Amino acid sequence: MARKILVLADIRDNSFRNVSFEAIAAAKKVASGGEVLSVLLGENVSGLATELIYYGADRVVTVENSSLKDYTSDAFSQALLQVIHSETPDAVFMGHTAVGKDLAPRIAMKKQAGLISDAIDLEAVGEEVIFTRPIYSGKAFEKKVISEGIILATIRPNNIAPLEKDESRTGEVTAVSVDIKDLRTIIKEIVRKSTGGVDLSEAKIVVAGGRGVKSEEGFNKLNELAEVLGAAVGASRGACDAEYCDYSLQIGQTGKVVTPDLYIALGISGAIQHVAGMSNSKCIVAVNKDPEATIFTIADYGIVGDLFEVLPLLIEEFKKE
Ligand code: FAD
Repeated sequence: MARKILVLADIRDNSFRNVSFEAIAAAKKVASGGEVLSVLLGENVSGLATELIYYGADRVVTVENSSLKDYTSDAFSQALLQVIHSETPDAVFMGHTAVGKDLAPRIAMKKQAGLISDAIDLEAVGEEVIFTRPIYSGKAFEKKVISEGIILATIRPNNIAPLEKDESRTGEVTAVSVDIKDLRTIIKEIVRKSTGGVDLSEAKIVVAGGRGVKSEEGFNKLNELAEVLGAAVGASRGACDAEYCDYSLQIGQTGKVVTPDLYIALGISGAIQHVAGMSNSKCIVAVNKDPEATIFTIADYGIVGDLFEVLPLLIEEFKKE
């Protein structure tokens, strides 16, 4: 069954989050010869549209509006609902990002539609699209379908490979206008924390520290390793609670979910709530002085030792690469 699938592009600092391309690839997987239409909401973003075509979108709809300069659920949901209304897609996909997590339930409620959140895989079987998503903090997986109405889904970053970028792909780009009114939230200013570096939720390598890192200065050493590896820095809640680092770095059940190629855990015990946010990493390396630490049960490589001795050695070795 051919499906028309609308994919919301996720933009940050005027460039796409990778999950935008991954969601296009997800849509391609189940469109079954139908159309994959990407939607770009923002201000002065139309110039980015062709990139979505290069990554597989058949068509792009751009919506430029000053109210869409920064994300607010109010303005974005009004704009997206109008596009959904005029395009009448069979399904709407977006990244399981801060934006997707906020916007998708709102759209589902307005459309009285079912929502599958945090999908890590999907397949089309006959009339149905079967989604796979983790449950019980990643300890099990469930397969789910939406049996009637429009299908809404958020796609977990770093799980579905994007299509190869192909600059010879062509597709129509259409600008549409929407009517955004009665906004109850207006962003006056965004004050960013100066975390800099690589975006944690999309990073290919994550260097994460726990309570074992012992201090803010200890985290500076972690930053050094991250810099050498081109990695993002993450943390356990233990480290955040101890004020060694900012909560924006927290990985886990109540923090960010990451799925990098390489996850290096330093001084992290491996509590279930932490593991929920990183167990799908492709390769896990754990450094812990306690040989019984739970983290070793999920690690591909374990180093039993004092992280303050191991860390400088790792930095030195990786610098040679
Ligand atoms: P600890 O458990 O204290 O572990 C520190 C580890 O460092 C130990 O294994 C120790 O052997 C090792 N160590 C100490 N010194 C050294 C050294 N010099 N060299 C090498 N190793 C050393 N936690 C999260 O991380 N993310 C979440 O999202 C999250 N959500 C939660 C939600 C709820 C509702 C609850 C109840 C808890 C949540 N937690 C979460 C907390 C979680 O249960 C753990 O308390 C937390 O993950 C522990 O952090 P930690 O591993 O850094 O600290």
